Amino acid sequence: MKITRVTAEPLEHARVPQLLVHVEDDAGNLGTGECWWGVATMQQDVPGDTLAPIAATVDKLLGPRCIGWEAGRIERIWGDLMRYAYRYGDEGILRCALSGIDLALWDLLGKRLAQPVSQLLGGTVHDALPVYASLPGQRELAPLLAEVQRALAAGFTAVKVHEFDVDLVLALRDALGPDPILMVDALGRFPPATAAHQSQRLAEARLTFLETPLYPMRDYRLLARLRRDSPIPLAVGEHEWSFDGFERLFKSESVSFVQPEICKIGGLTFARRIGTLAELYGVPLCPHAYRLGPGFNATLHWAFASPGAVWVEVPFLPEGIDFPSGAVLPPLVNGCANLPPGVGLGDCRR
Ligand SMILES: [Mg+2]
Repeated sequence: MKITRVTAEPLEHARVPQLLVHVEDDAGNLGTGECWWGVATMQQDVPGDTLAPIAATVDKLLGPRCIGWEAGRIERIWGDLMRYAYRYGDEGILRCALSGIDLALWDLLGKRLAQPVSQLLGGTVHDALPVYASLPGQRELAPLLAEVQRALAAGFTAVKVHEFDVDLVLALRDALGPDPILMVDALGRFPPATAAHQSQRLAEARLTFLETPLYPMRDYRLLARLRRDSPIPLAVGEHEWSFDGFERLFKSESVSFVQPEICKIGGLTFARRIGTLAELYGVPLCPHAYRLGPGFNATLHWAFASPGAVWVEVPFLPEGIDFPSGAVLPPLVNGCANLPPGVGLGDCRR
């Protein structure tokens, strides 16, 4: 089965735009993947076009190169595309675009063989995986508490808030009581000089992890220093891309939970390698996800087939905001998610 068409499909949205990638073969099979890029989420009125640079990389650079290739030779295609285009820089936009094509190829292969992608990865190793609701920042207690309670009512037992005010997080824990599992993503807003002190104060909130406390987010020397002084386990990795980068992260011993983003690092083909690397260094896998759609489904298939996976992030949007892909929250049982139904990457649309 030869690839006949590769197209990017931007899904415009004022706050949570998405970028899908479709790959078709000469037997009429269609696979759909997704790219993500990690610019600030939930932001309105972003100037310019955040999707266009990646869409152009799919449509004008990598996609045409794929035409005529055997669609099932995913590893071969991945390696060829990287070698073909790495002079643009083998991280960043190139990898975001490659991720979408790669995920579409896995979806296509699963559909052609009538198998879920997790089966193609060797089958599931988890019966269910704990997930946490990832809430956009609120900055004040009343709306923050309301959003956390809405997530708990939706079936989550763990919640991550994007807040960097220690007093606000302590007040939230006070209001919630001891039960819900709580994580904090500090968005790189802790000043290095006081981060250890802030982390020590946060210990009272009994956090499962403190994510991305420092900027620059890939300064693992700084992060390792904080980890030595932090009573809270640190989570990081959503801004990392390559073998070199992840190995530098693991070797620095600065991370307790690693959070690769499958729509940035090069799709499932590369995610499998990073999963193995994390296993080698004994760091549990906690995949990053901030869109619902093909990318999130791929994250679930990867996590379910990875022995080291312990948590999966689930974006939880404010009431009335839906992802333009039409995908909805996966059904939750006891705070755990299951795989989406169907073959390939599966479907979670309403
Ligand atoms: Mg984060």
